[in-house]
Amino acid sequence: DNLIEFQHVSKIYKGGKVAVEDVNLSFEKGEFICFIGTSGSGKTTSMRMINRMTEPTKGKILIDGQDIQKLNAVELRRKIGYVIQSIGLMPHMTIRENITLVQKLLKVDQQKQQTTAEKMIDLVELPREMLDRYPSELSGGQQQRIGVVRALAADQDIILMDEPFGALDPITRDSLQDLVKDLQERLGKTIVFVTHDMDEALKLANRIAIMSEGKVVQFDTPENILRNPANKFVEELIGEDRLLQAKPDKTQVKDVMLNTAITITTEKSLQEALRLMREKRVDTLLVTDNQGILKGFIDIESINKNRGLLSSVGDVLQTEVFYVKENALLRNTLQRILKQGLKYVPVVDDQK
Ligand code: ADP
Ligand code: MG
Repeated sequence: DNLIEFQHVSKIYKGGKVAVEDVNLSFEKGEFICFIGTSGSGKTTSMRMINRMTEPTKGKILIDGQDIQKLNAVELRRKIGYVIQSIGLMPHMTIRENITLVQKLLKVDQQKQQTTAEKMIDLVELPREMLDRYPSELSGGQQQRIGVVRALAADQDIILMDEPFGALDPITRDSLQDLVKDLQERLGKTIVFVTHDMDEALKLANRIAIMSEGKVVQFDTPENILRNPANKFVEELIGEDRLLQAKPDKTQVKDVMLNTAITITTEKSLQEALRLMREKRVDTLLVTDNQGILKGFIDIESINKNRGLLSSVGDVLQTEVFYVKENALLRNTLQRILKQGLKYVPVVDDQK
């Protein structure tokens, strides 16, 4: 069920500059996609082709399976919102007018505009009275939050954002990233977001498209990119520090990747482990010995369902534990383990 699909898309600007070369990508509804790459790598061009601000030279882009060449400008505006490199508000318009600006342009009915404005101001937890104030009557932080909801306010399912937080200080940036991610999830929007900041991409995206010289060199989840950078360029973009963090010690964890792990360094009781798993909504427990050698997996469901088995895993749980988020590799391994009768299965030979 692809919402947006690039099929062999290239863009050659007048004068012969190949800005984008044979890009093939598909995004699903509800995804948060980041394009990342160095300056001039074709991020903005790729994004602008999605709503026909820039036309591809070759290939095509489909939205909901439909070639966007067959959609007119109004149809595209209804589906796709666009936020350029600033999220500034219109100073001569009230907050309400700012929030409903796009809806107004799209001639959405008044009642709907009204409810949208209220819904949006509620979402950022500002009082409704503020709807009738002007931007200058709000603090800078409040204005920025309104800027973010405005981008998500219209009925468009897809929002394109080109380095919207690039010019902001790190603290403001961080809180607006949280806000955009939260709103995106709550409102079920699909966001295509351009950035050159790896931290930003890792934080926001559920999949990242890494661009270099017009080509997509890797398209994958943040976890997989950290775990398996496609080439030297990607490694450099990720940076040594993050790579080291992602792979704390290859010899310790063998083939199981712990890039999403939170390491609990002190010994924890089983109860404490379960509490933490619930709190952090982690569903898989990796058990290691005191040297950090991986001993096995236990998932919270099988713990809950099989309290009787706990005595047999009790010893193991006295040692250090790793918590990891679900991923496909773990899930497959777990499924194998579970098929073997919900017993604790060591994955590393004790002899080694
Ligand atoms: P990014 O967003 O990754 O910095 P762009 O997509 O803006 O990259 O640009 C990709 C390449 O295409 C760059 O070399 C840029 O100079 C060139 N380019 C962008 N827009 C135009 C244009 N309108 N005309 C000619 N060349 C362009
Ligand atoms: Mg750009």
